[in-house]
Amino acid sequence: MIIVPEHEISGLMTRQDSFDAVEKVFASMASGAAYNFPVIREAIGHADALYGFKSGFDRAGLNLGLKSGGYWPGNADKGLTNHQSTVFLFDADTGKCRAIVGGNLLTALRTAAASAVSIKYLAPKSAKVLGMIGAGHQSSFQLRAALDQRAFEKVIGWNLHPEHLSRLEDVATEAGLPFEAVELDQLGQEADTIITITSSFAPILKNAHVTGGTHIACMGTDTVGKQEVDAELVARAQVFTDEVAQSISLGECQHAMSAGLIRQEQIAQIGDVINGTHTGRTSENDITLFDGTGVGLQDLAVASAVVELAVARGVAIEVDF
Ligand code: NAD
Repeated sequence: MIIVPEHEISGLMTRQDSFDAVEKVFASMASGAAYNFPVIREAIGHADALYGFKSGFDRAGLNLGLKSGGYWPGNADKGLTNHQSTVFLFDADTGKCRAIVGGNLLTALRTAAASAVSIKYLAPKSAKVLGMIGAGHQSSFQLRAALDQRAFEKVIGWNLHPEHLSRLEDVATEAGLPFEAVELDQLGQEADTIITITSSFAPILKNAHVTGGTHIACMGTDTVGKQEVDAELVARAQVFTDEVAQSISLGECQHAMSAGLIRQEQIAQIGDVINGTHTGRTSENDITLFDGTGVGLQDLAVASAVVELAVARGVAIEVDF
């Protein structure tokens, strides 16, 4: 069995590797070669922790396994990351444990890759202004990965606490782009590509804010009750997702569905656009919305890629198990 510790991941996995792995597994999901198992998430009644599993099987890549992890709010006081996760991969032919891989950085990379994949396939080709809503830990990963996908000329951003926007400004500056802190109406008018990455439980970006010719990647809503954009905006957009079942139950589409504003059949899998079985954006003036809920197969795909890299570079730890 192979172990790839958390501290090795940053030296092994690039944004491009993560993008390639996530693009491929989204395609496998849409073709029916890969599927996610039901998600388990529990408040364990200890240390205020939320703990669970995301798992699945990709027959095309022969990736079988799970990500185990969750959120421990008291970790910061102990000098640890609040989000903790580990990926376990199993041999699809024998069921033997194949690898244990640190999952913290991989989660950030695979989540950033998902919105980047959506931008590649759905954003207007001529997109110039990237609008960011949210400036927490995950936001800089989303921003860096998005900048790879179009010739953006400017980054604009909004955050509940504007003093944290320097995190986005630093990434924009590093990429040689100007950054401007803006109000939501300006963000919705000016940005032709928008990423939302917050922990909000109420809509931030409203239908009236967005003028059109826009791609919106909603990445923060991964739990029942969370919401980043209003249901009317979802209903106005052409909607795509990683997985329809998650989108309507715990993703951004949960609210438009329960309000009766959209039907499940109107939500397309991004993998169908990748596979060419869905045309994607119909005109440059449309609004496309990607509901990136985060699926276990993404975790397995990036973990498997990192195991290959670790073996090839001689940094994998092999143990008899
Ligand atoms: P973080 O705690 O570092 O940052 C939270 C962000 O949300 C900050 O910008 C904060 O200002 C904003 N926010 C919090 N409450 C808000 C409110 N009421 N209104 C507006 N903004 C609010 O978290 P993070 O690591 O950056 O993650 C952000 C979100 O992304 C979380 O909800 C997390 O669960 C989610 N996430 C999703 C995936 C996925 O695959 N879809 C993966 C990882 C994280």
